[in-house]
Amino acid sequence: MGFDRPGRAVMNILYRLLLLTQVVLIAQAHPYGNHSALHIAEEGDSHSVVARASDSEFTALPNSPRIRVHSSCLSRWNLNQWDATVNQLKAVANYGKEATELVVQILNNNLNNDNPTLDAQQRRMLDLFMVLYGSFMWNDVAAKTREMAIIEGLHRNALEMAALFADGLVGDTVTANWNFFCDESEWVLDPNAPAKTPFWMIKDLPAGPRKQKVSDSLCTIPENYAAGFGGGQAEAVTLTAKHTQGNPNWITFCNGVWAVLQYQTHIWYQPNNQAAVLSNGDFLENMIFNTPERLLAHEFTHGQGQFGNYYAKDIKYGWVDMVQLAIDDNAQTDATKSKPVNNADTFSYWINGVFFNFCNFRSGRCEDVNTAAQRP
Ligand SMILES: [Zn+2]
Repeated sequence: MGFDRPGRAVMNILYRLLLLTQVVLIAQAHPYGNHSALHIAEEGDSHSVVARASDSEFTALPNSPRIRVHSSCLSRWNLNQWDATVNQLKAVANYGKEATELVVQILNNNLNNDNPTLDAQQRRMLDLFMVLYGSFMWNDVAAKTREMAIIEGLHRNALEMAALFADGLVGDTVTANWNFFCDESEWVLDPNAPAKTPFWMIKDLPAGPRKQKVSDSLCTIPENYAAGFGGGQAEAVTLTAKHTQGNPNWITFCNGVWAVLQYQTHIWYQPNNQAAVLSNGDFLENMIFNTPERLLAHEFTHGQGQFGNYYAKDIKYGWVDMVQLAIDDNAQTDATKSKPVNNADTFSYWINGVFFNFCNFRSGRCEDVNTAAQRP
């Protein structure tokens, strides 16, 4: 976190507020947010993109060949480290898919049941689902039907996330769907774009994605960014090259993110850590924030080439704002319009949160699943 942070004055005020209440700590613990494209005027379709250097600068990951890393990434971590990092998310994503299907099943089985008996595992999944995607009373059939519609969108994204790593979908690696790029300084202004509408593009690379210039650099969050943190530093930026065959998606990792990606989600499963998490009642947000599983799950959902109509945007960041988003949007019945379904951070918290089978996160803290199941 020791890197340039334009929003420091604002953050200093926030840090003072942290002393007042821990809830504020959790809401504002992100000095910078990972963000996607602004969804305006990116990728001018009429602009001809010039093919530049060869594909030789990219290497496919051994276990996830639909993902390629650029040489700028291999100077950070070696190929095996990248492969292992993505493998961690693969485990979380596969679990997330199964948990999502279980929630679908529980809802489906109990559409006409006012008072279902749920075990502690079913309960923690339902509780986390409700707090992130929308709550309902079991005796409210209309509300349950509404949530079934919302979960279709969540389920579709969970399937896509798992499919990203599925062996059966491995295509030819030359047109891999995902490219990782680890050097923001390679982003330059497109010399061919009209001066009034400058676009960023990656120099000396094959036809890559472009993004309208709305801030000083690609990794500087624009001042008026709807999800907040304007002027701050992004952890990563995801764009889809819609002008290129196969619509490949690009994740650019920004300076400063490397210190963030130092933990792995499964460390909490180590017996000592698990006991500590339970006795402290640690916040989900703190447990997953410095993990590649959280960041990558977030960034991947921005990929229009992978997620189609359900690709996610940055509506809200962080637990407190996401919980409020679910409350505010609770009447939505169209999954394609559901704000929680369309919010990248919500999905990353869902699959990472549900991965911890010893925590019920209905309050945002890790509560013992059996104890939590005893209480309404
Ligand atoms: Zn984002």
